[in-house]
Amino acid sequence: MPRVIGIIGYPLKHSISPYFQQAALDYYQLDIRYQAWETVPGELGEMVSRLRHPQNLGANVTVPHKESVLPLLDEIDDVAGLIGAVNTIVNRDDRLAGFNTDAHGFVEALRERGDFEPEGKQAVILGAGGAARAVGFALIRGRVKLLTIINRTLERAEALANGLRGYQASAGLATQVVALPWENVKMPQTFGRFHLIVNCTTIGMRHSPEEGKSPLNLEAIPSGALVYDLIYNPSPTPLLQLAQRAGANILGGLPMLVYQGAASFELWTQRKAPIDIMLQRAEEVLERW
Ligand code: NAP
Repeated sequence: MPRVIGIIGYPLKHSISPYFQQAALDYYQLDIRYQAWETVPGELGEMVSRLRHPQNLGANVTVPHKESVLPLLDEIDDVAGLIGAVNTIVNRDDRLAGFNTDAHGFVEALRERGDFEPEGKQAVILGAGGAARAVGFALIRGRVKLLTIINRTLERAEALANGLRGYQASAGLATQVVALPWENVKMPQTFGRFHLIVNCTTIGMRHSPEEGKSPLNLEAIPSGALVYDLIYNPSPTPLLQLAQRAGANILGGLPMLVYQGAASFELWTQRKAPIDIMLQRAEEVLERW
């Protein structure tokens, strides 16, 4: 009987993880199936207990379960504990271990596909939700000099900034962390200093109320910056189209998705993830959607 891995989330209609994960498993000719396990919040406990079966190697976890899954697991890795979210579960002899590979995926894609080294740079994050938390953590660990967080709900930006200040103090790092109100997105003078602008909001995402919109207008985008949009559908996003017109460098969200998945693949299989094959498969699937 083949062993199984799956993605736990709701909804999963637009998830491309099953396609590029299966491509990686097939590359090594492993007798493992990667499945989509759509799970509503009330069924999460039962779904997680099924992972303990020896046939299951583990799972990815996505919206809306990344935080609520923590108390259901036996062990939480340090990074997942600091971020407060799990996106990967590994079943090790009936013990479920939780990991977070989002921060790693973000920074690997930044370095490998964006050709950008964060150390000493000034960065701004738009948004303060789950993705922004992983990105903020990754950028502080990557030793940015300044990290500014701009969010529609200022209290969430402040809470995230406080959490990140706590982390950087405990880790002996020296990033300056600042929270600013959303009105700044309309103020081009706010953005001139940034080497890196990361969109962690849902603005511009296909099938969302803000489809077709950009969080920033053309004037706010400095020509020397790298603009990194975590959204991967559509590609390029409205923000990245504007960034191109402004003369900035751009990076979409697909490499991050694939690099976080590659790190999960390595945790389940202990084999080096075939990144190019995974990325190619992800691109093929997205083109058809
Ligand atoms: P989330 O927790 O729901 O956070 C959404 C963020 O967007 C919040 O900061 C929210 O602001 C902001 N927002 C939503 N609508 C807005 C609007 N109309 N105006 C201004 N701000 C608005 O979502 P998430 O999990 O962090 O995900 C964020 C994005 O990242 C999604 O598009 C997701 O697909 C993408 N993502 C990509 C990857 C990848 O691997 N490429 C991984 C994770 C996430 P408030 O706080 O004011 O509500």
